Amino acid sequence: MSGDRTGSQEEAGTPLEIRRAVVTGGAGFVGSHLCDRLRDGGAAVVCVDNFLTGSPDNVAHLAGDPGFELLAVDVNEPFDVAGPVDAVFHLASPASPHDYARHPLATLKAGAHGTLHALELAGRKGARFLLTSTSEVYGDPKVHPQVESYWGNVNPIGPRSQYDEAKRFAEALTATHRAHLGFDTVIVRLFNTYGPRMRPLDGRAVPTFITQALAGLPITVAGDGSQTRSLCYVDDTVAGILAAARAGHPGPINIGNPAEMSILELAERVRDLCRSAAPTRFVPRPGDDPDLRRPDIGRAAAVLGWAPVVDLDKGLAATIDWFAAQQAAPAAEAAP
Ligand code: NAD
Ligand code: UDP
Repeated sequence: MSGDRTGSQEEAGTPLEIRRAVVTGGAGFVGSHLCDRLRDGGAAVVCVDNFLTGSPDNVAHLAGDPGFELLAVDVNEPFDVAGPVDAVFHLASPASPHDYARHPLATLKAGAHGTLHALELAGRKGARFLLTSTSEVYGDPKVHPQVESYWGNVNPIGPRSQYDEAKRFAEALTATHRAHLGFDTVIVRLFNTYGPRMRPLDGRAVPTFITQALAGLPITVAGDGSQTRSLCYVDDTVAGILAAARAGHPGPINIGNPAEMSILELAERVRDLCRSAAPTRFVPRPGDDPDLRRPDIGRAAAVLGWAPVVDLDKGLAATIDWFAAQQAAPAAEAAP
């Protein structure tokens, strides 16, 4: 069912200059690129991470930068940050299906306790709070493409529920703090994002296929590969996150690339770009794996003037170059 109301979707935001930001999950894939872009724009950054699925290596190039601080903190416990803060970006959460299956309770806690603690930090600082929610709140969608007014189709006790429901709860917590406690909040729903600094063995399709293709190992396509995803290069995703944070529209706002393709097509594209002869191996599909996913980005265009600009071949080529340079580890573990 599609809902008629999504709260304050038509509200305009108040533009914000971000001079100092906290990024939870800042040592992860998306978070580390966000730290980079914030520093590029002159904002000081406090990166908060417990390295559950991220690594200090992702921000090692910022060590010694006086505008960058890295704190080893578990946001599932109460935490504080010294000094003024204009914006809190809450990214801390396992994000790949492989990771949230390995860390189910930590994932639920990151959506619940972690989000509450990050909101409380924003409240104490008078800062804007941005939640990176996910297309997974739409579950296995019955509305295609997915528009923000769609309420989703999520199995609350299924194999992906620890992530999907944690993010749905995190959205509810954020919306409640806005509606009832006057917090300044933004919700963005990120769709599948790829790029350098993904972990080769995080189990997601892009790093798995690249690692396998580069090693000449069978490319593990789940099911018959007809399920679709819409892949957004990380630079575009981070530009969307920053635009949303600066604009202050409460959202939710879909951030993703509407170019949709089947997973089998993705495997073939990666194999071609890697100039690999790796065969395809069809493997069982994970439970509750969504059939279709494509964002409607009309709202992002209207309220942020944002749209992705990196086409798939360019983004994949940059990602493949990065993986090749990392001399990725064997891919066998990454099969679903
Ligand atoms: P990631 O696993 O690379 O990064 C998550 C980071 O959060 C890691 O550095 C991890 O160590 C940290 N973290 C986890 N639990 C923590 C805790 N309790 N305390 C402190 N740090 C903690 O994942 P990512 O792909 O960079 O995703 C970042 C965010 O974006 C997540 O919230 C995810 O749900 C959201 N998102 C990502 C995508 C995508 O395609 N990458 C799509 C939709 C939403
Ligand atoms: N997938 C696949 N082979 C893999 C890893 C993933 O075919 O080795 C499929 C997976 O079943 C899903 C799609 O690729 O249909 C995208 O999976 P990913 O984990 O990248 O993202 P998500 O499921 O969270 O959208």
